[in-house]
Amino acid sequence: MSSPTDIVRVPVLEVFSSFQGEGPRVGERQVFVRLAKCDLRCAFCDTPESYPTPDTARIQVSAPHGPEERPANPMAVDDIIEACRRLDDPPGLHAAVTITGGEPLLHPQALYALAVGARALGLRVHVETGGHRPGALRHVLAVVDEVSPDLKLASATGQRTPWDAHAETYAMLEDAGKALAIKAVIGADTPVAEVVEAARFAAEHAPSAPFILQPATPFGEGPARPTLSHLFHLHDAAGRLHHDVRVIPQVHVFLGMR
Ligand code: SF4
Repeated sequence: MSSPTDIVRVPVLEVFSSFQGEGPRVGERQVFVRLAKCDLRCAFCDTPESYPTPDTARIQVSAPHGPEERPANPMAVDDIIEACRRLDDPPGLHAAVTITGGEPLLHPQALYALAVGARALGLRVHVETGGHRPGALRHVLAVVDEVSPDLKLASATGQRTPWDAHAETYAMLEDAGKALAIKAVIGADTPVAEVVEAARFAAEHAPSAPFILQPATPFGEGPARPTLSHLFHLHDAAGRLHHDVRVIPQVHVFLGMR
């Protein structure tokens, strides 16, 4: 029998139903579990509200405009799973639970429990990560179905690219057959040489995964969206080194969704 001290808790920003707006599964109906906290500060970040832990989580009861609940943080993982179950009505309406952030791999124990619970609902488990925490990823890899790690280009993030951590992350996912896509946000000032290096790196460490160039969505002080001609230059250059390079913007932004 479990005691209150056995209950796994994690800070949550929100749980909601939406359409996947990034990467190869764009358009798929998914339940999103956005965990709080991030150890990076990307210049293009569109979820800075995830950095601190909010006092309460925002839990959607039904989509698209249903009422919300505001339970206190940190939430028990069992309650998060119950929120996912309630949203997935009728069962199977959603294809997957996407666990995102912030950086979800800051909470490996809770992420493990969340993934097990989501799978028990019959939903695929997809994790979005900055791709810089391979130790935590190793802890949860067996219970997640697919992972979309970023390739953090310095020109877009304003921070050093964590090449070593990316290499370890991608190789682990490639070996497990769980690399859904490698995503690099590109801005108006992203140099061709940087994308060439990134495409070569992605092809070397995760050859089975598509390499996604995601034009920056202008946000705050972040990078501007690349022009169309720059986008073509970047794609041409990356395509010489990687067999599957795609340009996919953040589709949910066009629909005015989270
Ligand atoms: S990893 Fe994600 S949540 Fe963290 S700062 Fe970068 S874009 Fe924002």
